[in-house]
Amino acid sequence: MGHKELSFASQAAPALPGDSIDHVDTPALLVDLDAFEDNLTRVHNRVLQAGLKVRSHGKAHKSPAIAHRQLAAGATGICCQKVSEAEIFVQAGIQDILITNQIVGLRKVARVAALAAHAKIAICVDHPLQVEQIGDAASKQGSHLDVLIEVDIGHQRCGISNAHQAIDLARTIEQYSPHLRFAGIHAFRGSAQHMRLPQERAAAVSSAVEKVRGIIRELEASDFHCDIVTGGGTGTYMLEASSSLYTEVQPGSYVLMDTDYAANTPAADSPPLRHALFGLCTVISVQAGHAVLDGGLKAFAVDHGLPRLQLPGWSVQTLSDEHTVIVPEVGAAPVHVGDKVRLIPSHCDPTVNLHDWLIAYRGQTVQEAWPVSARGALF
Ligand code: PLP
Ligand code: MN
Repeated sequence: MGHKELSFASQAAPALPGDSIDHVDTPALLVDLDAFEDNLTRVHNRVLQAGLKVRSHGKAHKSPAIAHRQLAAGATGICCQKVSEAEIFVQAGIQDILITNQIVGLRKVARVAALAAHAKIAICVDHPLQVEQIGDAASKQGSHLDVLIEVDIGHQRCGISNAHQAIDLARTIEQYSPHLRFAGIHAFRGSAQHMRLPQERAAAVSSAVEKVRGIIRELEASDFHCDIVTGGGTGTYMLEASSSLYTEVQPGSYVLMDTDYAANTPAADSPPLRHALFGLCTVISVQAGHAVLDGGLKAFAVDHGLPRLQLPGWSVQTLSDEHTVIVPEVGAAPVHVGDKVRLIPSHCDPTVNLHDWLIAYRGQTVQEAWPVSARGALF
């Protein structure tokens, strides 16, 4: 037999429906369905009751299986950060996508315009060149897009900063091509999401709302109507929802959660969301004073700190490419080669991006293996 006919299990999911979670191959990511569904319905219901739309951010999970659950729970559509993510979600049947990003380059805008022939697509701009590129591509393709102007509300990343720029850009969008529609404002501040105290987050959102409100007032005075005002993540969505300015919010991490988000003090009226995402590793070596797990930097992102070990008396000491070294406190119960242990990721988005599968379980039993189809989608 030629080697091309050989097939190995490495492409298969690390567990199948019906398996016990004790038999999931490692390193893996588990999703606790009870916690996931609780987070999903709690956030969606609060936003929908406040009269806004939920447009869940797909960058957190990169998984059409989760996006479909978000839509079933009332989301109006999803956000993507990358064109290649959007392509994968459209392929999976998602019909309404906001790319919360500036798309630059002729190859990329051609792909966005092609996508817009199959689904409702909106993009963000903060410069006339972006408008011209996507306008030309949409005309060539014969497709139509909504265009949002991104306003910088303190993130100091993308986005225009005053009403004068907004009016110029809105005029460019409306005049450049009949294939583009000026649809409103994108205003998201990532750094506000992780401010620890509710009053800090409230102050950040209230100054953002004031700035955006001023810009919208001047746009309207120049006859540019803002249908959509979108932004807000897991840390602030209820603040935008009660702003009477935003029309939709874009939380991403809320369904999975991580230790960085759990470190936020929740607002008095919002109980903390539950950890639904867990890394599962196997103890592959036990030495005097430490033990070693079979997943390291290629299984856990560490930009927001080390993953938190769920093993009483033990903690994570260090991660290398394929290993995590864990150490005991005095008197901790011993671990054994072959034991399985859980870790809570510190940052869900880049951690999920390291895995091909999310293993959804309830109780002790695997229910589904969700492919992380947009994993690695980077351009
Ligand atoms: N919207 C935009 C533009 C983002 O960049 C992000 C994440 O960084 C989100 C929404 C979702 O944020 P979170 O995962 O913190 O809810
Ligand atoms: Mn994140």
